Formats: sequence, structure tokens, C-alpha cells
Amino acid sequence: MNSPIDPVRLSHRLNADLHCHSSVSDGTLEPEALAARAKAGGVELWSLTDHDEVGGQQRARDAALRLGLAYLTGCEISVSFAGTTVHIVGLGFDAEDSALREGLAKTRGGREVRAREMAAGLAQVGIHGAFEGSLPYVGNPELISRTHFARFLVERGICADTSEVFRRYLTEGKPGFVPHRWAALGDAVRWITRAGGIAVIAHPARYRFTPTEEYALFCEFKAHGGCGVEVVTASHSATEALKYAEMALEFDLLASRGSDFLSPDESRIDLGNLPDLPGTLTPVWQALADRVQWPA
Ligand code: AMP
Ligand code: MN
Ligand code: MN
Repeated sequence: MNSPIDPVRLSHRLNADLHCHSSVSDGTLEPEALAARAKAGGVELWSLTDHDEVGGQQRARDAALRLGLAYLTGCEISVSFAGTTVHIVGLGFDAEDSALREGLAKTRGGREVRAREMAAGLAQVGIHGAFEGSLPYVGNPELISRTHFARFLVERGICADTSEVFRRYLTEGKPGFVPHRWAALGDAVRWITRAGGIAVIAHPARYRFTPTEEYALFCEFKAHGGCGVEVVTASHSATEALKYAEMALEFDLLASRGSDFLSPDESRIDLGNLPDLPGTLTPVWQALADRVQWPA
């Protein structure tokens, strides 16, 4: 592919933001508005990584290229591992790949049933109509998520912000939490890699794993063909970024960087506004150089 950007610029210093969400999943901005925000935030290489869905890819890519922003396809797949939900980001795959699309459709299935159960749980503690109340926030009916419920509870004045909703109502042991069976780790990694992409463990510090469980996640992820880990991301402290930089070296994984931006009102870190990756690591975008779509 012809590149107006010298490949040398695919360095650590490239402002890559390879994790965010649009209204196609649980973000509040349309893909075009996100692309514009990424550009305004100084992003040079961007990926839209909606949950379990590639329906926004064409729009994101077209908008990015129009703005002169290099683009990698992306998604964030929900996986069940050791009784916990783990997110796997896929980058640089062929978004038309049929096995990937079928796998994502299967992963999306069951979200509505889960959401109705979440609403039933909330009704038991006196919060009624949460399913219907969340629907106006849902851009994609197949992708109703906890985030949409959180916005509804904030609108109702039940909590001050979405973090409080998650803490009090939507996490394990809380009234609106419903355990759910997502994709298997190996399936998610294979959907991504067989479609020509690279699988990346998203925000590893977010999982409440014991060291043994975390070690098992990294070993199994690698055994299935996973190649990357998010080191720099909004939910990682500087100490956590350093810990996962060391894990990337220990497990010989490529390192990724992404804001996980959802909304101007809710996200702590804006698109493009992240620290650089530690210099000892190999950025995932170097391994994806031939998958990057460059503006004309
Ligand atoms: P779901 O796919 O429906 O389980 O929703 C997962 C999404 O909820 C994540 O991708 C986050 O955007 C959001 N989320 C999960 N935990 C929290 C939390 N503690 N605070 C705020 N948002 C959260
Ligand atoms: Mn995530
Ligand atoms: Mn995310």
C-alpha cells in the first residue's frame, strides 16, 4: 500500500490510539464524530474497536481516511475465562471475514435476554423499567450493554455518575449483575488471527485475577495464537503500565496503546492523550504495518 507516512514513523512515538467505542456499541459518538475527535486529539493511527461488532468499521475507516488519519480495523471481543469476563481486542483483520462475523454475531446473541434479567434484578431493589429506560441510549439493538443501563440510572438520579452505577449495581454480587457466558478465549483469538489480524489482551489490570489465573490467561492466550497486550490504556496507572510492560517482555508479546474512549462526559482520557509505550517494547502497529490503511 502507498504510504504518505514514512514507515520509520511507525515508531514508539507514533500517536496510535487503538481502542475506543462508537454508538455502534456503547460509545456515545458516531464513528465519523470519533474520527474527527481522534484527529483533533493528534492521533496519527486510529482504530475503532466496538464491542463484539464490526458494523462501524467501514464508516470509521472512510471518515479516518478523509481526515488524513491512518486506520486499522478493530473490535473488542467479550470472552469468558476462569469465571471472569476478559476483553480481547482484534486489530488489522479483514472485517468482511465470514467466520469472524459469525463468531461476533453469536457473541452478541443473548445480550437482550441478559439485559432483561439485569432489569429484573434491579426491579427487585426498587428500580423499575430499567430495560425500557436504557433503550433510548442504545444505538445498536444487538449491543445493549451495562453501560446503557448505567446512563439510565444516572439520568434517573439514582447515582451521580456511571462509575457509581457499576460499583453499586452492575458488578459481581450487585443487584443488576447477571453472569453471562461469552465467547471462548481460543475462539476469539482464532476469529481474529484467521481473518489476518492480531489479538491483544485488553486492559489486563482490570481483571480481578489471582497471579496464577493471570499467568494462565497469558499462557493460554499465547498458546491459541494471541500476540499482543495493552500496556498503556486509560484504566492503567503508571505502575500497572510498567507491570504489563514487563509481562509483555516476559511473554514476548507486542504492546498496544488505546484510550478506551466512550464519551466526552464519561471518559477520563481523551483520544490521543496517552503516554508513550515504554521504549523496550515492540508496538503492535509495527507488526501490522502492512495492514494499516493509509490516507491518499
Ligand atoms: P458489558 O459488555 O455489557 O458487560 O459492558 C462492559 C462495559 O461496561 C465495559 O466495556 C466498560 O465500558 C463498562 N464498564 C465495566 N466496568 C465498569 C466500571 N467499573 N466503571 C465504568 N464502566 C465500566
Ligand atoms: Mn473493555
Ligand atoms: Mn473498550
